[in-house]
Amino acid sequence: MAELRGELVAEERARRAQLAANLAEVRAGIGRACAAAGRDPAGVTLVAVTKTWPASDVAHLAALGLRELGENRDAEASAKVAECAAAGLPRLRWHFVGQVQTNKTRSLATYADVVHSVDRARLVDALSAAATEAGRTLRALIQVDLDPPGTGPGRGGAAPAEVAGLADRVADAPGLELKGVMAVAPRGLPPGPAFARLGEISAALQEQFPEAGWISSGMSGDMDIAIRMGATHVRVGSRLLGTRGQPR
Ligand SMILES: *Cc1c(COP(=O)(O)O)cnc(C)c1O
Repeated sequence: MAELRGELVAEERARRAQLAANLAEVRAGIGRACAAAGRDPAGVTLVAVTKTWPASDVAHLAALGLRELGENRDAEASAKVAECAAAGLPRLRWHFVGQVQTNKTRSLATYADVVHSVDRARLVDALSAAATEAGRTLRALIQVDLDPPGTGPGRGGAAPAEVAGLADRVADAPGLELKGVMAVAPRGLPPGPAFARLGEISAALQEQFPEAGWISSGMSGDMDIAIRMGATHVRVGSRLLGTRGQPR
């Protein structure tokens, strides 16, 4: 028994050390990208996307000082958030980055702090109702579809032309706070032009809503270019936690 416990402790210690090294590497990468862009690294928030990884990894990341965590499926997220709360972790901020089904909004409103993937009017209304019912305020980002038109189902998001209308709706919705825009780079295309376009969409949005300046746009593979193009939030999973599907 004692031996088994010793092995588990050693395993968790090794995992913590691995996550610490990965985190240092990601932070250094953010630092380099900011330096190249003449930006202050304090203007870039690292959201650790812990989907498919256990609550024990969230505990490690929290111990390493991270407070912003991301998830993309409600069932997994709600269970993990509950586990983290039961484990007595410090107050964490949960970012929901996946596509939201309207029948999941009630659950989401109980734990999410930021929803990155607001992409349709019906979802705005459902999130608003759920947040109001839960007595909470959800920060909302409009997800923009940057795939070229006619390339089939993309990664979700509203068409650029729909952003202004959705933003008005979010701004008027009780329980929601409009914070900015989010996008995933189109598949198979260089991310630079797409993120530049997102920057333009963000600038236009801020003319009407100056407080909606968040740009959530980089992932493990493209956070450098995203930061160069103005990202305020990068959503990093595999570079921090490892390749999904093969835990540890
Ligand atoms: C999984 C996911 C991420 C993180 O992706 P990595 O490539 O593992 O860094 C970021 N954003 C969204 C929307 C995701 O679903």
